[in-house]
Amino acid sequence: MAHRELECGACGRTEPVTPGATVCPSCGKPLMARYDLDGLDAAALREAWASRRGGGMWRFRELLPLADGEEPVSLGEGDTPLLDIPRLGGDLDLDLRVKVESGNPTGSFKDRGLSAAVTRGSLDGAPGFVVPSAGNAAAALSAYGARAGLPVRVYVPADTPGGVKARCRHYDAQVVEVDGLITDCGREAAAYAEETGAFSVSTLHEPYRLEGKKTMMLEIVDALGWRAPDAIVYPTGGGTGLIGSWKVLDELVGAGVLEEAPTRMYAVQSEGCAPMVRAFEEGLEEAPTWEDAATEAWGLRVPSALGDFLILRAVRETDGGAVAVSDEAMRRGARDLGASGIDASIEGGATLAGARALRAAGELQEGETVVLFDTGSLLTY
Ligand SMILES: *Cc1c(COP(=O)(O)O)cnc(C)c1O
Repeated sequence: MAHRELECGACGRTEPVTPGATVCPSCGKPLMARYDLDGLDAAALREAWASRRGGGMWRFRELLPLADGEEPVSLGEGDTPLLDIPRLGGDLDLDLRVKVESGNPTGSFKDRGLSAAVTRGSLDGAPGFVVPSAGNAAAALSAYGARAGLPVRVYVPADTPGGVKARCRHYDAQVVEVDGLITDCGREAAAYAEETGAFSVSTLHEPYRLEGKKTMMLEIVDALGWRAPDAIVYPTGGGTGLIGSWKVLDELVGAGVLEEAPTRMYAVQSEGCAPMVRAFEEGLEEAPTWEDAATEAWGLRVPSALGDFLILRAVRETDGGAVAVSDEAMRRGARDLGASGIDASIEGGATLAGARALRAAGELQEGETVVLFDTGSLLTY
């Protein structure tokens, strides 16, 4: 089943499903795909999803933007492990699990979002794709665009590490270096999209990357025996995985697959770029731009996010929160995951650092099942 309509996450305006949809025409905020949950049979769904285990994230196609008969643009993304980490969990008296995303086709969870966005885009007649990014999103778009046989252009700040650009070029993308910040890249990418008709897949500027990202939570709930975890800790840049997790738990309850999903959501950011943490602590509904953002974790160097209000609502409505940790604590977290045999970039390390801070603050309780989102491979650095 494909989605029924698109709904603005801010003003609630609904739109018919339109090829090339971007943001809400009224208020410019993110659009979200809405499904006919009433029309789903929970038992049949669980059975169908279980029977397709090993088939990647598209095994959940009933809750993804794909109509019967349509084929996804896939490179085998998803079906990543949810590992327990008993030594690290024992230290904190938690049932600590880690969703390890490094096994995705380009080494990060960005693949899930870009598989969904490129799938919908290519089915909807996109002549090509464009994204502003200094990291994993650029590599993922390049790979999925190539898989779809469509041209990709990425705008990157000139000081982006050479490895990122090399990865994009490997997938035959056009790499445009911009003398400026990621916000400048955003402006140039938008102008290019306007000029050429290429679909821009900038974070939450189109509705489908969110749909791909939410499959992480579907896999987590499946791995836990159709039980939602007590809490998740998410390394937050633009927040798509956090918002997606919140959205899909609602959908699972709406479809009757879960009776309840009392998962508390925690956003972790770097002390050098913590707009969500500051807004959370100050009781704001939107997050003012963080000036002079500085962190080694490029996935978290996002000074302002279009979905800020959704991140803040997700953490508040689930009784979770937001916490900032130092780059040093993140690095230690990544090393400690490594010492348990787990591939983790600094963003993954941030989640262990965040869990430690939240446990010390009494936010996470003894014995709770807490899932860390280890979003990408150390090798992407
Ligand atoms: C993009 C990215 C993040 C941040 O993800 P958002 O969904 O934008 O919050 C975290 N970790 C890694 C490795 C990333 O590439």
